[in-house]
Amino acid sequence: MIKLIRPEKPIELTEEKEKELILDFKNTKKAVWRQPYIVERLLNMSHKKCCYCETALETQGRPMHVEHFHCKDDYPDEVVNWNNLLPSCSQCNSNKGTLDTKLYPLLNPTVDDPKNYLYLNHFYIKSKDNALDSIGRETVELLDLNNRDRLLNPRLSIVDMMRYKLNDIHKKAVELKNRDDGKQYNKSRIVNGIKDILKMAQPTAEYSAFMGAIILDDEDYFETKEILMELGLWDAEMQGLHDVADSIKLDTHK
Ligand SMILES: [Zn+2]
Repeated sequence: MIKLIRPEKPIELTEEKEKELILDFKNTKKAVWRQPYIVERLLNMSHKKCCYCETALETQGRPMHVEHFHCKDDYPDEVVNWNNLLPSCSQCNSNKGTLDTKLYPLLNPTVDDPKNYLYLNHFYIKSKDNALDSIGRETVELLDLNNRDRLLNPRLSIVDMMRYKLNDIHKKAVELKNRDDGKQYNKSRIVNGIKDILKMAQPTAEYSAFMGAIILDDEDYFETKEILMELGLWDAEMQGLHDVADSIKLDTHK
């Protein structure tokens, strides 16, 4: 989960339109929030990912669900309130169910910065505050953010792929550093390779808060970074990618 910046509400969603849709919902229980201008803006806000578990949406048979942070059954007047709508996957939407978040708060990624509440412990997303009723713990447990089949295994598969590439890049970087003939052997493979690795920890990538924590904590990564800096190959683009990853990654300790 990463902090999301909510854009302005769609201009189509005027006060009058809201009233009309609320009335329609109360009378018919129709999914009045499924307006193309709402769906599109929510998807853009979350980089086409679930706002909670960061799985990619609108791909591999995973449609976006419009999640009502304050449950639509208890708070029908907020059914198209722009600040109450979040893009989620079907599983997080269903795990959250009809919980009354005004009484039992959960993390809202458009309001709270998840990295202040969550951290990564041995590949598991955990709450920094371990109290049973802490907002971090309630969120992780209710949304099942470490579900083995749905999230843990897919996240670990990406880590395996990343580590395989990073290991190769690191070896090439060490070889480059140790060459004494001045030739920049494999230079572009190393430079492009490290950029590709960092792209796995950008807001547009799946599980970016998790991947950022893994990559930036990897000895092969920071040794490669040091070598590239030493050789004058670490450029502004890499630094920019690194800084973004650093800003969204989960801590690996409390
Ligand atoms: Zn989800």
